Amino acid sequence: MRGWVCACCGRWQVSIERISGRYLYRLVRYYPTEVGGGRNVLGEVGTVDALERLLRARTPLTLADLREAA
Ligand SMILES: [Zn+2]
Repeated sequence: MRGWVCACCGRWQVSIERISGRYLYRLVRYYPTEVGGGRNVLGEVGTVDALERLLRARTPLTLADLREAA
């Protein structure tokens, strides 16, 4: 899967989803199993600019904190 993950803890991930013919960046927070696990979709946006604003609003990260997912 294409996308990015934060370099600090790996719990913030951005995947690229094709939805209704459009590509969207989906920001997801993963919770550690110690607190029950699971994930929370924080938002889906259509541009890198919007992704940067979403990161700033919902996470302690910027685009520079993300690296390409393996
Ligand atoms: Zn992290």
